[in-house]
Order: sequence, then structure tokens, then C-alpha cells
Amino acid sequence: MYKSILSGAFHGMESFLVQVEADISDGLPCMDMIGYLSSEVKETRERVRVGIKNSGYQLPVKRITINLSPADVRKGGSAFDLPVALALLAASGQMDEAAKMADAARENEEARGTGEYLVLGEMGLDGTIKPVKGVFPILMHALDMGIGKCIVPIENREEAEAVDGMQVRAVSSLAEAVSVWTGRQNAGGSSDDRNAEEEKTENDKTVGSLVINRENKKDFADVCGQEMAKRAAEIAAAGFHNLLLVGPPGSGKSMIAERIPTIMPLMSREESIAVTKICSMAGKLQKGEGMVWQRPFLQPHHTITAQALVGGGNTPMPGIVTLAHRGVLFLDELPEFGREKLDLLRQPVEDKKVQIIRARYACTYPSDFLLAGAMNPCPCGYYPDLHKCNCTDQERERYQKRVSGALLNRLDICAEVGRIEWGQLQKQGNESSAVISKRVQKAINRQKIRYGMDNKFNADLSNEETILYCGMNAGAERILERTYTKYQLNPRSLFRIRRLARTIADLAESDEIKEVHVSEAIALNKGLWHA
Ligand SMILES: [Zn+2]
Repeated sequence: MYKSILSGAFHGMESFLVQVEADISDGLPCMDMIGYLSSEVKETRERVRVGIKNSGYQLPVKRITINLSPADVRKGGSAFDLPVALALLAASGQMDEAAKMADAARENEEARGTGEYLVLGEMGLDGTIKPVKGVFPILMHALDMGIGKCIVPIENREEAEAVDGMQVRAVSSLAEAVSVWTGRQNAGGSSDDRNAEEEKTENDKTVGSLVINRENKKDFADVCGQEMAKRAAEIAAAGFHNLLLVGPPGSGKSMIAERIPTIMPLMSREESIAVTKICSMAGKLQKGEGMVWQRPFLQPHHTITAQALVGGGNTPMPGIVTLAHRGVLFLDELPEFGREKLDLLRQPVEDKKVQIIRARYACTYPSDFLLAGAMNPCPCGYYPDLHKCNCTDQERERYQKRVSGALLNRLDICAEVGRIEWGQLQKQGNESSAVISKRVQKAINRQKIRYGMDNKFNADLSNEETILYCGMNAGAERILERTYTKYQLNPRSLFRIRRLARTIADLAESDEIKEVHVSEAIALNKGLWHA
């Protein structure tokens, strides 16, 4: 007998539908799986064999062939366990009479194009269903293709339900999946277990929001003093400008960086869908989390591997630069990363996407993040405090050269974070993130109107657009011209200063870029001139 079940998979950022076909025929007992499978999928065979047995069903002593089509895309992951098991049970006639009738009814529905379930799930040896990666993007794609029903692992329920218009059945075991599939448990669930499930969902959601709240507890109100650096962070957030924080150890560089997401504008729905897809594919959604509405903040250690940073692997997986998409990538102790890794960041920072090319595949991931770097001014960290710093000029120079100039050229802001004075530590009433983010949001709204779209910010402007949108008044132009000539600036720096001045004017709610705006932009950009 033959049976086919619909499933799905993803490769890079692309999702696609997969038909899982099971055929059982006479012949020497064996179980073959074909269809361009990665090694992970080949393990499906063993898990399904044991899982079926331990759930009280039987594996027919016949010749079993499982085919995953389309055959021209390489399929990875463990999400085919459940569809393979269901297809096998159906093909071997182990679903009872009621099930067969339900099956007939469903096939009727299928003929009308409304009834087919898309099935995803990894199976344990005892038949329990375990969570899988990529549920959200696969279901989004399925919905586009007209599939409106799915069976997913219970742990993936929230992300599945985040797909608007998808009817979700979440299961925790093979037996449960069989009941759903055969219609003994109809698509709404019986009222009893629906209530129990709803209660569970409520609990899960509480857990989810607690997690989110915990992250939210970081607030700029905790940062004493450092008005310059806080102002730099505000400007960075208001125009998506990359920034570098320079200061001695313990001055609060990381404290400031990790609070930048709390003042960035709210994510649009489009941004949220992109971030949720990435988290789902990487298996980074927290328990109980549906759509991700918080901007990501990623802080890799400097020992991170190149692959973990930019992505890759046998089956392509997004790296840190992609997980930070539409959020903040924070690199503390920038020089420690070394030139090689910092050079790897050039493409993602410049193009806002990263291309991964391996022998077996090529794929492109988005990587549009705000880069925040932090470094000490010298190896000991205390320059320019000559009482404490014993570094020679050469040592200092060598240290700064470890940060590749190519990367520094892609930053807009360099802010000094000084030692905190005693008086500032005692000071109460620091501005909270909520207050700062209101100003940022206003500046962002001005950009939305100016550029006529949701996700374009001042830092994203091309040189042509910079000329078009970042015109200054005559006084401001004169200041810029004088600076350009006096310091023999690179033309690229000029464009960066113009865009930065545009953001500063937006924060001041000024249509015109004035002298004070360009002066502040120059001061913020200055630290990067001789990189
Ligand atoms: Zn030093």
C-alpha cells in the first residue's frame, strides 16, 4: 500500500514543502529511505522503527520504501520523523476502521484543497514527539501555498499559532498524533483537553513574558554619569548608526551597549516576522514564545569561531551576525577578536546580508544589525591617565592597529566613556530608557515620513540619497568644509558625518541641518579619522 503525507523543510532562508511517501510491498523485509537526505535524516529510520514499536504499533515485515520529494533539494533536520511514522502506519493499514472513514472524508477535503495536514516533529525512541527547528517559517510558507492545517510538537505550539490563519494541532506523542490524524480527536480538540490546553498555553505565555520582562529590566536609569556616551547611544539608536565605545575597564561600556535595544524603536510586523523566522530556524525561540517583538542583543565572546560568527556548517545554519538581525551586535574588547574575524564582519556590515558558499550549497542570510564595539584606549586600559598607564606609544599604536581599519571605516560614532566621578555616582534621577526611547521614536517617525518606508534609517542612505536628503544650511556647510580641508578627511567620512548630522537634527526635530548639529556629528565621528 501507498500513502503520502505533507511535511516541510528549510534551507538557508528558503522554506519548501516536502511529500513524505511510504510504500509497503511484498519482498524481503527492509526499510529504505531515499530522496537526497542529509545524515540527520537518515537517522529518522532508526528512530521511527523503534518509536513505532514502543508506541504499541507494528512495523510490517515487508519491503518498506520511504521517499522524500522533491528529490533535488537536500533535506536536513529531524522534523521528518513524525510524518514518516504516520505515513508508515497509514500505508500498513494500522489505523482502524473509524480512521479509514475519517481518512476517506479527509481525502474528500483534500480533493477540495482544504483538509491536508502539514506534519512536523522529531520522535524519541519511546514515541514522544520532540520540538524541531524552523516551524514558523515552514508554516508561513505552507500558508502561502494554501495549506491551512498542521500537526506540530507541543513545544512548537506558540510559534505555530503565531502564523495567522493556521489551524494548529500540537501533539506530544505518536499515539496522540495518530488520533488527530485519524480524526478521533477533531481539529478543534475535545472541549476538555482544549480547556486543559488553553490553561497550559496561558501558563506558557506567562513564562514567556517573564523571560521577556527579565530582559527588559535593563534600563538606562541604572547608568550613572556618562552623559556623552549615553547621548551617543541615543543618536546611534535613532538612526541605526554603528558605534564604538572607548574607555577604561569598568567605566560601563557594556552596561551602555546592552541597554541600546531598550531605546531602539519598536519593531514593525515585518521586522518581527524576519526575526522570528531566524530564531525558529536556529532553534532559539524561548519556551512559550510565539512572535519575537524584542530587538535581539548578541554579545559573542572573542574566542567565537568564524563559522559561529557568520554562519555555515554541514547543513547551513545562521550565525551570530544573522541572529542579531534588526538588533544589536555587541563586540566587547574589539581588538581581542583579531583582524581575521573582524574582516569577516566587513561584508555583513556593508551589505546587510551574508553569503555563505560551501562545496555543497550556497545561501544568503540577512544580517542588518547595529554594530556596537567597545575597546580600551590602550593595552592596560588607563590611557590618557598617565598616573596609571605605563604603555609606550608603540604599544598603544600596535593595540589600536589590531582593530582593522576596514571595520572602523564602517562605524559612524566613536564615543569616549570616561571614569565615573564620585559626584555622578551619588546622583539620582538618571533618564530612563522609556524617556529616551520617546525621543528616539520621534526621530524615527520623521525618517519614516521622509523615506516613505518603515525600515529605512539615516545610516542606510546611499551616497546619492545622502546628497538628496542631508542638505545643510550655509553655516553648517562652511563648518564641514573647513573640517574637511583642515584634517584632510576621506570623502567617505564626509558622507558619514552628513548622515549622522541628519539624525542629530531629527532628534532635535529640525528639518534643517544646522551648525550645532554638524558640530556634534563631527565630534562624534572624529575618533575614527586616523584609523
Ligand atoms: Zn596603558
